[in-house]
Amino acid sequence: MTTSLYDPLAGDYFEPASARAERDRTFQICSDCRVCVKLCPSFKSLFQMIDAHPDGAHDVKVLHDDEHQRVVDECYQCKLCYVICPYTPEQEQEWKIDFPRLMLRSLAIQEREGKVGRSAKLLARTDLQGKVATFKNPWWRDHQLKVALKMFADSLAELNRAKAKVGNNNDKRIVHAQKEFDNGKNGLCLGHYWRADHEFWETYVIAHEILKSNRR
Ligand code: SF4
Ligand code: SF4
Repeated sequence: MTTSLYDPLAGDYFEPASARAERDRTFQICSDCRVCVKLCPSFKSLFQMIDAHPDGAHDVKVLHDDEHQRVVDECYQCKLCYVICPYTPEQEQEWKIDFPRLMLRSLAIQEREGKVGRSAKLLARTDLQGKVATFKNPWWRDHQLKVALKMFADSLAELNRAKAKVGNNNDKRIVHAQKEFDNGKNGLCLGHYWRADHEFWETYVIAHEILKSNRR
């Protein structure tokens, strides 16, 4: 698993109240930190909206649901904040932050509630990611590749578990997961690491759901 924070198989992954509480916790830490203020529209909007509420900086819970929605909508999954953040799970400190995955989780919940065409939105975002991926910094490209390879390994393991559980590779859900995985591999070969990471993540989520639905 890429992060220990957000597991699609966990019982509360798709619970709106749980995700809202996690966004409240994360937004409060980000509001106190603000290192990412210039990285993207999500952070810019978040901090502007917090500051527009009297006392918002002291308690970000005052943000409305549509303000949360805006932060989620404006994230295009470049993952730059994850690279910069000193509070990611790997850092082994008290606060645990995975802002991009939290945005993805929030989007997945909206999609499940029929509030958003997730695929269309994410595809639009991966186009944006393509622009970000033209960034010529070799360290950044290395990081992109590392993230995609980690997700490759996680999604492959999950896909294999799902295949073993279903016992039928022609099962529609397995075919869907396999297609996402193959798209990810193509992305890797073409050097489209962000897109590959996204496809592997989709594979992981689908495989997780298959395992969940097949549990006794
Ligand atoms: S993601 Fe991390 S570094 Fe960025 S504002 Fe939030 S806490 Fe600070
Ligand atoms: S992953 Fe999302 S929130 Fe983080 S810097 Fe990129 S666009 Fe902004």
